Amino acid sequence: MFDISKVVRKNVADLVPYSSARDEFPGKDGTFMDANENPYGSLNRYPDPYQKELKSLISARKGISEDRIFLGNGSDEIIDLSFRIFCNPGIDKALTFIPTYGMYEVAAAMNDVTLVKIPLTANFGIDLSNSSSWLKMPDLKLIIICSPNNPTGNSMKASDVEYIISNFEGIVLLDEAYIDFSGKESFLSSAGIYPNLIVMHTFSKAMGMAAGRIGIAYSDPAVIRFFNKMKAPYNISTLNQREALRRLANPGLLEKSVKRIKTNRERLVRSLGGLSIVEKVFPTDSNFILVKVKDPDHLYTKLVEKGIIVRNRNSVVRGCIRITVGTGSENKKLIRTLKEIEP
Ligand SMILES: *Cc1c(COP(=O)(O)O)cnc(C)c1O
Repeated sequence: MFDISKVVRKNVADLVPYSSARDEFPGKDGTFMDANENPYGSLNRYPDPYQKELKSLISARKGISEDRIFLGNGSDEIIDLSFRIFCNPGIDKALTFIPTYGMYEVAAAMNDVTLVKIPLTANFGIDLSNSSSWLKMPDLKLIIICSPNNPTGNSMKASDVEYIISNFEGIVLLDEAYIDFSGKESFLSSAGIYPNLIVMHTFSKAMGMAAGRIGIAYSDPAVIRFFNKMKAPYNISTLNQREALRRLANPGLLEKSVKRIKTNRERLVRSLGGLSIVEKVFPTDSNFILVKVKDPDHLYTKLVEKGIIVRNRNSVVRGCIRITVGTGSENKKLIRTLKEIEP
């Protein structure tokens, strides 16, 4: 049985969080002489530390209560906090499935946590055949699953993800940064069903707000409370909160953006498939495409020379480059250039 008190670090459970001026008086109206702010100008006041307006809009959109929502300074902050809240440095372990997003490894190293890496299958699925050994691994506190996965582009089987969540007594962080491009159902509704699941979304991809640095964690209120305790008091700037609100208030924006990128993606997949230097175009549920080519290092350099930057993933997935879906004209330029490079 999952027991949150067994997976939270003792120092985190015992922590008395910083109490900001806005914690002590959360009201909006008054003569504010409590936070040593400059009384003149604009942007002179500290942001709302709990982003109440933004959470209330997200809550209404997703049908999930505000006490199940945490906002981070990008998903980066949520990943880092997951290590800091649940993994004792030098003692506890985390686990993920490779190849995957490089930030998990960096966050683990920054926190002095060993990251156990289980290879994905040939089709980039989760291999559960040996799962009983790693699910019961001593001191394993955190499992990170990326679905759709970066850089492979595919979604994990929902039943595999569910199996891990139900059979693991630690925390499962499910990174769904690309879920809007997938057409698959998010595990978001399950965030309330499984007390050990954190579903992570971001404003950086489908919402087109990477510059704004806002990541979203959905989980049980008992988990969310620890994130609120551990975060920097004013972790999301007023400017970024405002811009996120503005975008969410425009109801068609997400759908329009996703539709356009998916159309471009299908065209790009078809064009890439017709090129002789392309050996394989992997199926994608994301806004990027993993492509196997004859000589990725050479191709990468050639493309850079022509001013087109893709991601060389040869060291992570042998023979592969990762291409982010661009605008119609960017994609055409890429295909034209690839044809020029073709022998
Ligand atoms: C892009 C991406 C994110 C988003 O990170 P932010 O810090 O929110 O910009 C999260 N996870 C994966 C796997 C990504 O590729």
